[in-house]
Amino acid sequence: MLYYSTNKKAEKATLEKAVVKGLAEDKGLYMPEKIKTLPKEFFDKIETMSFQEIAYIVADAFFGEDVEAEALKKIVYDTLAFDCPVVPVTENIYSLELFHGPTLAFKDVGARFMARLLQYFLKKEGQNGKVNVLVATSGDTGSAVANGFLGVEGIHVYVLYPKGKVSPIQECQFTTLGKNITAIEVDGVFDDCQALVKAAFMDEELNKHMKLTSANSINVARFLPQSFYYFNAYARMKEAGKADNLVMCVPSGNFGNICSALFGHRMGLPIKRFIAANNANDIFYNYLKTGEYKPQPSKATLANAMDVGDPSNFARIYNLYNGEHKTITSLIDGETYKDEAIMKTMRECYAETGYVLDPHGACGYQALKDLLKEGETGVFCETAHPAKFKEKVDAILSTDIEIPQRLQEFMKGTKQSVEMSKEFGDFKSFLLSR
Ligand SMILES: *Cc1c(COP(=O)(O)O)cnc(C)c1O
Repeated sequence: MLYYSTNKKAEKATLEKAVVKGLAEDKGLYMPEKIKTLPKEFFDKIETMSFQEIAYIVADAFFGEDVEAEALKKIVYDTLAFDCPVVPVTENIYSLELFHGPTLAFKDVGARFMARLLQYFLKKEGQNGKVNVLVATSGDTGSAVANGFLGVEGIHVYVLYPKGKVSPIQECQFTTLGKNITAIEVDGVFDDCQALVKAAFMDEELNKHMKLTSANSINVARFLPQSFYYFNAYARMKEAGKADNLVMCVPSGNFGNICSALFGHRMGLPIKRFIAANNANDIFYNYLKTGEYKPQPSKATLANAMDVGDPSNFARIYNLYNGEHKTITSLIDGETYKDEAIMKTMRECYAETGYVLDPHGACGYQALKDLLKEGETGVFCETAHPAKFKEKVDAILSTDIEIPQRLQEFMKGTKQSVEMSKEFGDFKSFLLSR
């Protein structure tokens, strides 16, 4: 299957090229040329299938033409060696807990899938020479990508993160690994990290010197596998007899996650409608209300993994619906919450239900509270384990939540990072020296 660019100027690319290059030459995002509809029989018996079984069928629809069946099955089963439960919080609101992966982030699925797919292509080509993955992070992406690629031969990962702006646990998750992972601590904000990565991809001299690719959700191998979650959520809701009039609510930043859910919908997944929950970074919300997309500098909030002022996957969503604002608003609703509202929601939910929300999931839960209609059942993505934001969560809820063993392990390591200014010249000389 070929992949075209959302800017429609670049040549169509093979899956391999789309994964290795990340971004198209015209700076657009790659989109699969076809999105297959899955047969009715699949949805009829989906509740009898496991997460891995479901995911393999979905993966086959996307990647089956380009990856041998046995290899694809192994990639899927290796990637999804963990659970993705749906937990009732109130009578009609369910939490889709996306944080049971190795770094307790939903991004683990895409990161691990991409690492294995890239490795598959490198092996097949018998390529020598390293591929270098550059990734800008405000916290969660860095840990998921670093851990997903850890020890994968032929690939080196550079994680760029804003100094002092990620939680201590998150920082440990990508600065203590060593091996093929280098953490770069940028004296700036997330947008500066993203700008450095983008400039590196566009720099001719650098691209001659080394093979560069991106593991942000602009990469098709990162965001498409996230659709597995939504098929599984539907299956588990159907199993519980709650699959009618389902509303899926996704706390969103770069919009990769919700975009993968919309691809699922296009493949026939019976979700009635979607809600994109935003923090104070309300660019998408404003687009829904006005039809105008106006990027803004990102604002720092409690839900920092959603502090994005120019969500890259907007281009994919826009493209998926031919830029028709009406079509988009008929399927997707939105809400936006400032920090005070997030804290209030966390406290109320904890008091009323005993469920501990993290600041990201809180946006999703509250959006369902505010927008769910009579007769609908809502599922929101709880995108992060609350312990990842322990300091904040404990301060807001007056709790002392337990840190899972897996997170504690990371905190035992020694931090190693390279300090970097936000000037591209410095970053470039550093990469050239490698
Ligand atoms: C990445 C992330 C998000 C936002 O996901 P997008 O795909 O960028 O929209 C939300 N919550 C958490 C905890 C995340 O790590």
